[in-house]
Amino acid sequence: MIDHARIHRDIATLANFVEPGCVGTTRRAFTPAFLAGRAWLRAQFEAAGLETSVDAGGNLIGRRHGKTQQAPIIMGSHTDTVMGGGRYDGALGVLAGLAVARTLNAEGITLDHPLEVIDFLAEESTPLGSLIGSTAMCAGIDERTLNIDIPGWGRLVDALVMVGGAPDLVRHPIRSSGSVTAYVEVHIEQGPFLEHAHQPIAAVTGIVGIRRADIICRGRPDHAGTTQMHLRHDALAAVATVISSAESAAQRIPGTVATVGALTIGPNQSNVVPGYVRFSVEMRSLVWSEVESLWQTIALALDEASASRGVSYEIEMIHDSTPVTFPAWLVDVVGDACVTSCGSTMRISSGAGHDGSLLARICPAAMIFVRTKDGRSHCPEEFAAADDIEAAVTALYQAVRVIDARARDSGA
Ligand SMILES: [Zn+2]
Repeated sequence: MIDHARIHRDIATLANFVEPGCVGTTRRAFTPAFLAGRAWLRAQFEAAGLETSVDAGGNLIGRRHGKTQQAPIIMGSHTDTVMGGGRYDGALGVLAGLAVARTLNAEGITLDHPLEVIDFLAEESTPLGSLIGSTAMCAGIDERTLNIDIPGWGRLVDALVMVGGAPDLVRHPIRSSGSVTAYVEVHIEQGPFLEHAHQPIAAVTGIVGIRRADIICRGRPDHAGTTQMHLRHDALAAVATVISSAESAAQRIPGTVATVGALTIGPNQSNVVPGYVRFSVEMRSLVWSEVESLWQTIALALDEASASRGVSYEIEMIHDSTPVTFPAWLVDVVGDACVTSCGSTMRISSGAGHDGSLLARICPAAMIFVRTKDGRSHCPEEFAAADDIEAAVTALYQAVRVIDARARDSGA
C-alpha cells in the first residue's frame, strides 16, 4: 500500500525550505534554502534505507539495491525552483520516487534491478545554466561553460564543488548509454490539456525541441526631437518588426511557439532614438524542421528590418535541443499504468523541457504528467490536486514493477 498521506506531508514539508523574503516557493539551486531542502531530502532517503550519495554532477542519488547488479531503473526530477515558483514543479517527481521506494520497503519487495531516486541539480534556469545535473550525467559539460564567471554567482566549477560534485569528472557524461534500464519522471503538466480533457494524469510521448538565440542590434542613438524619421537608425524599431514576424510565423505553423521574452534597450530614454537592443528569441516544436523553419523566417525578417534602417546585428546561438520521442514500449508501459491507476488513457507531449529529455540520450525514458490547475506553473498559484498526485504515484509504482519484470523476461 502506498502511504499517500505521507507524500502530501512531504510536499508540504519541502515547501518550507524557501529563500527568505521571496514570494511563493522560491528555492533556487545553490542557495542556502536549496541546500537545506536537500539536507532534509537526504535524511528522508537515508531513513528509507537508500544508499545516498552525490555524483560528480551534483545530483543527489538514493539507491535501493536489487537482486542483481543490472543497470538501475531511475525515478526522479528536481527540487530547485524558479524565483516565485510553486511547490509541485520538480519536487513532486522526486518525492513520488521516494514514495515508490518506501512502498517497496513496506511490502518487503526486492526488485531484480537496483532502483534509484534522483534529485537532479539545477533543472530550472539559473545564471549558471539550466538542466545542469542531468546534462552532466547524460551529455557532459564543456570547459567554457564550467568556467564562465557570472557576477554574483561565480563559476559553475565552484558551485558544483559547493554542492558536493566533482567538476573534473563532468566533461564527459557521468553515465554511458545503456547503463540505465529505464527512467520514469512524474511531473506536473504545466499546461492546460489535462484539465480541458478532464483527466488526472497522462503518459507523455515526447518533449519539444528548443532553439534559443540572443541577438544584438546596433543602430545610432540620436535626439528624438531633431532627428527626422528618414535619418534614423532605430534599433528598437527594427527589433519590433522581428518580434511581430516571430509571432506570426509561429501562428502559421500549428504546434509551434516563438517567443521574444527578454529585451535590453540602450540608452532606454524617452527622448533618445534607441541605438542598441539585445533580445532573446526562443522557438519550440516537436518537429525540428519546424523550429528551423521558424528560425529562417525570423532571421530573414531581422536581415530585412536591419538593412532598411541601417542597423547592424550579431547573432549568438545559445541553445539547441532537438525534440525527444520516448520509446513506444515504455510509453505503453506507463500508459497502461495510468489506465490501471485511474482509467486515464490520455497521452500528450511536453512543451516544456525536463530532465527526462537528457536522460532519453542514455536510456529508454518516459514521463507521467499530472493535471495542473488552470495550467499554471512557475508561480505561487501552481497547484495539483491530492487525488491526481495519488493517481500519478500509483501509476509510477506500477510502471516500475512492470519495467522490472519486463526487463527480466527479456533477459536485459
Ligand atoms: Zn520542473
